Amino acid sequence: ATATIGLTGLAVMGRNLARNIARHGHTIAVHNRTHARTESLIADHGDEGDFVATESLEDFVAAIEKPRVVLVMVKAGDPTDAVIDDLVPLLEEGDIVVDCGNAHFADTIRREKQLEEHGLHFVGTGVSGGEEGALNGPSIMVGGSDQAYERLGPILESIAAQVDGEPCCAHVGTGGAGHFVKMVHNGIEYADMQLIAESYDLLRSIGDLEPAAIADVFADWNGGELESFLIQMTADVLRHTDAGGQPFVDVVRDAAEQKGTGRWTVQSALDLGVPITGIAEATFARSLSGHTDQRAAARKVFSTSPEDDTVEVDRDAFVDDVRAALYSSKVVAYAQGFDQIAVGAETHGWDIDLGQVAKIWRDGCIIRARFLGRITEAYADEPDLTTLLTTEFFAEAVKEGVDAWRHVVATAAQGGVPVPAFGSSLSYFDGLRRERLPAALIQALRDNFGAHTYQRVDREGTFHTAWAGDLSESEQH
Ligand code: NDP
Repeated sequence: ATATIGLTGLAVMGRNLARNIARHGHTIAVHNRTHARTESLIADHGDEGDFVATESLEDFVAAIEKPRVVLVMVKAGDPTDAVIDDLVPLLEEGDIVVDCGNAHFADTIRREKQLEEHGLHFVGTGVSGGEEGALNGPSIMVGGSDQAYERLGPILESIAAQVDGEPCCAHVGTGGAGHFVKMVHNGIEYADMQLIAESYDLLRSIGDLEPAAIADVFADWNGGELESFLIQMTADVLRHTDAGGQPFVDVVRDAAEQKGTGRWTVQSALDLGVPITGIAEATFARSLSGHTDQRAAARKVFSTSPEDDTVEVDRDAFVDDVRAALYSSKVVAYAQGFDQIAVGAETHGWDIDLGQVAKIWRDGCIIRARFLGRITEAYADEPDLTTLLTTEFFAEAVKEGVDAWRHVVATAAQGGVPVPAFGSSLSYFDGLRRERLPAALIQALRDNFGAHTYQRVDREGTFHTAWAGDLSESEQH
């Protein structure tokens, strides 16, 4: 055995991750079901480091030093189980199987139990940053046991993105914690992109700006607190024209697709009882965009005349209001995402350091942004924070932006521009800060039709009113 680590699954992600590992001086055994991919990796990039190319899974496993670290980077779902089933009989007690694919955290929990029976470690690891990240430094969210991380961590930390000499890689918790955190990362990515898309729509439809001018606005925003990979990318995309000279954004079909991690995030939030309204609206907005038949039917019946959509605004002031609304809504989306991680950790018994999560997202992943440093600071000041929204820095930002935020949401409603993420984030904010909520009426209705009981504001106890009888109130025991 000569390799420090092995990797099976050499499609775009695996191939780039293997190159990254080799470039950092680790000898890596590589394998792929279809051997041609292995051959092409060696032919194209074999000189970048020490690769041990293997054709059979037996040779692959034999090439790795014990305790073995085997990275699996294959299609998520059944293929991952198939590869694990093939690997298990070839491995020995203490070996470590690392699933770097986009697995659902529940599958990771199941697989860890399954491998534990064979004396093997299973490490569910979230790898973000797409192809480019895999090659040049991803953000890596590692689950699994401490023992496994001791062997594996140094290698992953060496290939991760680095910020101020610190790797964007951490052992976030045991079991499914790594894949759970990666899932919420992707959910936040959905919200971030939806907020950006709504901003663009408002600047174009109400601000009456052309894509190239909106590109300049985003480039300008990228110089301030909104500085992030996605804001910069938005400027680049909006400036791009196709071969015919048309704005690229105008020639792309307006039906957003999804691979499912946003949906998983929302499903998990519903199970955990965490209101992640921004991420949920972003996921539903993609879904709505794909319902082309319903959209066509609605356009026919509710066609908009140009006058309907015209709202008069002071353009410069409106651009600035949209920026403030974007920032405030983004703070809400992140606060909600971090809530979900906190509740998920508590529910599943994972000891997740939320400040550290923000820290390893500062580079190497799609949501990398300057603002994540502030989240790390907030959790450093107060590890048991109730919500990010109320920490001094974010509270000040939201207070400062709230009038603009309301103006943007109201203007959007008037102009018939859909802003599900802006609107729901504002409602979430108002819901949290309101003295009394109409939930009281809901409780009363529930007691009326279903005798579901209620509590009173003025004394302890659980009560029921005889709605169908004499309307007397009785205490329930
Ligand atoms: P794909 O998801 O397209 O998977 C292709 C790889 O899986 C190939 O190596 C293929 O082998 C292998 N494979 C599929 N089925 C089997 C099977 N039954 N047995 C053995 N091997 C099998 O590759 P990607 O590189 O795009 O992604 C890899 C993983 O990384 C996925 O889980 C993905 O969700 C995740 N991911 C992807 C990102 C991206 O930007 N693409 C970003 C972050 C994570 P063969 O060549 O023989 O067909």
